Amino acid sequence: MRTSKLLTLVSIAASVAIVALVGFNIWKEREHALDEARQRLSDLSLMQAEQLERSLQSVDLALNSTIEELGRSSNWDSRSIHLHLKNYETALPQIRAVAVVAANGNIINDSALFPVTPIFVGDREHFTHLHDHPDNRMMYISAPFKSRRDHQWTVVLSRPVTDKTGAFRGVVFARMQPQYFQENLQKILRHESCAVSVLRRDGMMLFRQPHDEKTMGKSFAKLPLFSTHLPISEQGSFEKLAAVDGKLLLFSYSTLKNYPVVIAAHQEKKAILANWRNHAIRASTVVSIILLAGFFLTRRLIFSLQQHEQDIAAKLASEQQLRFMTENMLDVIWTWDSVKGITFVSPSVKHLLGHLPDELLGRQLEGLCAQSTLEKIAEKTAEARAMIEAGEPPPLIDLTFESQVPTKSAAPVWVENRLRLFFSADGSQSSIQGLSRDVTERKQAQQQLENLANFDALTGLPNRVLLADRMQLEMSRSKRHHHLLAVCFLDLDNFKPINDRHGHATGDHLIVQVANRLKQAVREEDTVARLGGDEFVMLLTDLSQPLEVEPMLQRVLDDIAAPYVIDGIDMHISASIGVTLYPTDGDNPDTLLRHADQAMYHAKQAGRNRFHKFDKHHNLHD
Ligand code: GH3
Ligand code: MG
Repeated sequence: MRTSKLLTLVSIAASVAIVALVGFNIWKEREHALDEARQRLSDLSLMQAEQLERSLQSVDLALNSTIEELGRSSNWDSRSIHLHLKNYETALPQIRAVAVVAANGNIINDSALFPVTPIFVGDREHFTHLHDHPDNRMMYISAPFKSRRDHQWTVVLSRPVTDKTGAFRGVVFARMQPQYFQENLQKILRHESCAVSVLRRDGMMLFRQPHDEKTMGKSFAKLPLFSTHLPISEQGSFEKLAAVDGKLLLFSYSTLKNYPVVIAAHQEKKAILANWRNHAIRASTVVSIILLAGFFLTRRLIFSLQQHEQDIAAKLASEQQLRFMTENMLDVIWTWDSVKGITFVSPSVKHLLGHLPDELLGRQLEGLCAQSTLEKIAEKTAEARAMIEAGEPPPLIDLTFESQVPTKSAAPVWVENRLRLFFSADGSQSSIQGLSRDVTERKQAQQQLENLANFDALTGLPNRVLLADRMQLEMSRSKRHHHLLAVCFLDLDNFKPINDRHGHATGDHLIVQVANRLKQAVREEDTVARLGGDEFVMLLTDLSQPLEVEPMLQRVLDDIAAPYVIDGIDMHISASIGVTLYPTDGDNPDTLLRHADQAMYHAKQAGRNRFHKFDKHHNLHD
């Protein structure tokens, strides 16, 4: 898999893992905050239930003790009863007064004042209830109401007084002040959104903190607390949407063991989770910033990786292309370094020189190039070093030339070389990039053309064109060395009849054999050329005096006159030669040839099979 793809997958996986981890932690913290709040509310409701229980019990004890006292007394409005009531009022801060109500509904003794002005409370709920149920065993807890005396919210805790027969005699009650509990609660409720409600088991609100005038005495029997939760458990927690404002609340409730009272502590869920929410937002923001930064960094990294991968792919493609080209081209590409020798050579070298590339790597150029090539390179290197020493920058030198290169096991080949020479800054090191192309075929074709132009096709001897060159060359050499040069014009005698008798092909064979004998008869440095037909020219060099030529020409005549066997037929032929000397008889090639021709004519005239020396005076008269 490509690195950029792998990095993309890894970064996506890492981002998902980070988001999942952070999300999980945030969710855990939320659960923790809710658990904590649930526990706090539960502790609060439990504690309040215990406190209220104790408080109600002590009031209950006071009421029971008062009933006993009333049983012993015949005078319920007496001062002693009042003092008794007063004692309880003083001892119990949760109540404001303890009072005795006669069976007719009038208060006849009250801890708050003595003597009491009879006040009718026979219409109050707690009185009517107890009046109707004198056998009520439990302390009766009234609905809250506003006191007629001081307009304070009051909850009356009452017990019936009966005689021995169980007949209703009146009621003893204590005025409990919700405010007392509310003040205590206010001290411990630290959260604004936290509230504690104290309700009667039938759903009636006794009081709540914070105080809410509207809810006092109101029935909440239809709430899930009463309809759903309390029938199942005396204690518990649940969530509920507030009917008033639709806020989601967390509830914990506890019931009193001995009294029909429920304590419900609740807190707005949003407030519970406020801190958590702030923390979660902070954490999410930080993580988002980190992820965003990571995203951009990774994107950049991936982009540059992709770029890099594309570059590598392109490089690979071009390398492959180059490799394909170097492996399949006929030209040889090579590089050389003055320190490492041959550093690269394309496989085509096998075809050109017979060497495998590996055989050449590390080798120096000696033995692989022509001497002339080495000299050219040495010469250019010396020039470049001189330039560098003169303060010029290292030059790039291009060389194009042809040379003959030895092969591993075959004949040398002609190559066209294109070289570029590089030099180090101080000129101490050099390197070459070279391209060598096989031009042997071209060279051979060129050679053939040159041969056609300069040599006689039948005998292979120099023709008239090359003879002119050679004459110039030999004339200047003779002049330089103060020697004589003999220019000999040779024409076969009666050649035409041989042609006529034996055919042109046989005539050709004879011409070729004559040419060979002529070559044999003269020295290595002498020249034999064919002018055409049965005419030849010989250049005999390095003669010190005119007579020296005579034995040489006689030998030529003798050699030619010797018998020939052509196609099984014996043949004889002779030649007539005219000879002229340079510089004595002429000083330009045309004149010399003309004079030699004239001398040859004289040899013919004189009977053939002889040579005749050009004689200026004699020939002038012809
Ligand atoms: P002479 O002794 O006077 O020289 O008489 P000749 O018969 O040799 O006559 P000449 O030299 O005047 O003529 C040369 C003849 O050679 C003419 C021609 O028929 C013949 N000839 C010319 N070129 C060629 C050639 O390339 N091949 C052959 N076989 N014959 C040639
Ligand atoms: Mg002839």
